[in-house]
Amino acid sequence: MKIPEKGLEKSEIFEELEAFRTNDIDWRSGTVWGYVYDAGREAEELCHQAYMRYLSLNALDPTIYPSVLKLENALVAMARTHLNGDEEVVGNFTSGGTESIILAVKSARNYARKMHPEIEEPEMVLPLTAHAAFFKAAHYLDVKAVPVPMDEKTYKADVAAMADAITPNTILLVGSAPSYAHGVIDPIPALGELALENDLLLHVDACIGGFLLPYFARLGDDVPPFDLSVPGVSSISMDLHKYAYAAKGASLVLYRDRTLRKHQIFACAGWPGYTVVNNTVQSSKSAGPMAGAWAVLHHFGEEGYLEIARRLREGTRKLVEGIRAIDGLYLLVEPEMTLIPFRSDEINIFHLADAMKERGWYVQVQLAIEGSPENLHLSVNPSNVDRIDDFLEHLNGAVDEVRGTETSELARTVSEAFAEVDPEEISDDDIEGMIAMTGAEAGEVPEDMADINEILNAIPPRLRERLLTAFVNEMFVP
Ligand SMILES: *Cc1c(COP(=O)(O)O)cnc(C)c1O
Repeated sequence: MKIPEKGLEKSEIFEELEAFRTNDIDWRSGTVWGYVYDAGREAEELCHQAYMRYLSLNALDPTIYPSVLKLENALVAMARTHLNGDEEVVGNFTSGGTESIILAVKSARNYARKMHPEIEEPEMVLPLTAHAAFFKAAHYLDVKAVPVPMDEKTYKADVAAMADAITPNTILLVGSAPSYAHGVIDPIPALGELALENDLLLHVDACIGGFLLPYFARLGDDVPPFDLSVPGVSSISMDLHKYAYAAKGASLVLYRDRTLRKHQIFACAGWPGYTVVNNTVQSSKSAGPMAGAWAVLHHFGEEGYLEIARRLREGTRKLVEGIRAIDGLYLLVEPEMTLIPFRSDEINIFHLADAMKERGWYVQVQLAIEGSPENLHLSVNPSNVDRIDDFLEHLNGAVDEVRGTETSELARTVSEAFAEVDPEEISDDDIEGMIAMTGAEAGEVPEDMADINEILNAIPPRLRERLLTAFVNEMFVP
């Protein structure tokens, strides 16, 4: 394939773009229980219009586009109020939760370099339930992640165990509000105390909950303190492209004050081009996501968001009751927001996920890891709420269908062969062999995931990582 010799007609271009999408999931249908945060057509169209108006503005340089500076400061100001920060709080707009987290870790690392130059190998202590983005930050920034098992019953951070994990090299503590996998809120006030006692920074990952939880509190839920009002919290991340319904590419990272945020900024005058001074990982970047987010916040306003939160809260409760009523399904933990993990002892949940997919529903698979069994995860978004009865009916049907399904021969063979071996000892060739056994083909997305998930679930996490890396390396081949 090469760039076409002659340009195509507009109609042809769009036909081809649509053709790419034939096998995509229909994200507006309310059948997708993850990745999608959809509050309806009106908000979506408005967000798109605002986004398009700012699409071509380059947020790299606010001296050329003062509008971008105003928009970003306005978004941070609204977030600061929403999260109970005072006038000292500053922050920036980023492309997503992952970038917000990478920046918070980078700021903590560079702050520690200044305050504690004796620390050569910085560490961050985090509950095992912290988002993968912290491990990515560790990987990029050469900060050691020290995951600590969570409380077995509540799935919340075990503060005493985290205290025990602190060493002279620790620079940062982490808590989530809530964690993605289990949807529960870590004890942030206790983590704040721990941070203050040990003169450490504390980042709160409120990527998914920061926007929504304050509305749940207003609706009467007993939401524990998690935001900038908690002493000891030094930074917090909050996504706008989740429960604020902005288009993808919208998150915020906030800091208690400028002293800490300064360490996020990168400046470079050591090359012959324009002077570079970047707040974020990206340099050239569209201002579209910012304008889209600003527009959608002004579209709903507090009243609109509160109303949506009411629907989500009712929907989540109904769903919880419905799942409880299905013989053989159990919730891992009581949801504190809109995230529901459920498991089974009797039914193979990987086949259940595939059976739901055949019925047109996407549910998210979560593999077993120390202290947390394999389970299925639902993130409730507004477009799901009207489909709950429908969903539960299909879930019932799928459970009956899958009941009695055994682990596949293939999954058993592969997992038995690899369950006990040291992941680091396995050669790249063996990894290739494992992939070949699953029947995966280069450049294609696999159809049936149950076997693949069973294999992944049976092997140690480090081996999963190696397998997935090799797998994706095969998938993105033109
Ligand atoms: C979604 C999420 C992230 C990562 O955000 P992205 O926008 O996908 O990069 C981090 N933490 C939590 C708790 C999340 O839910």
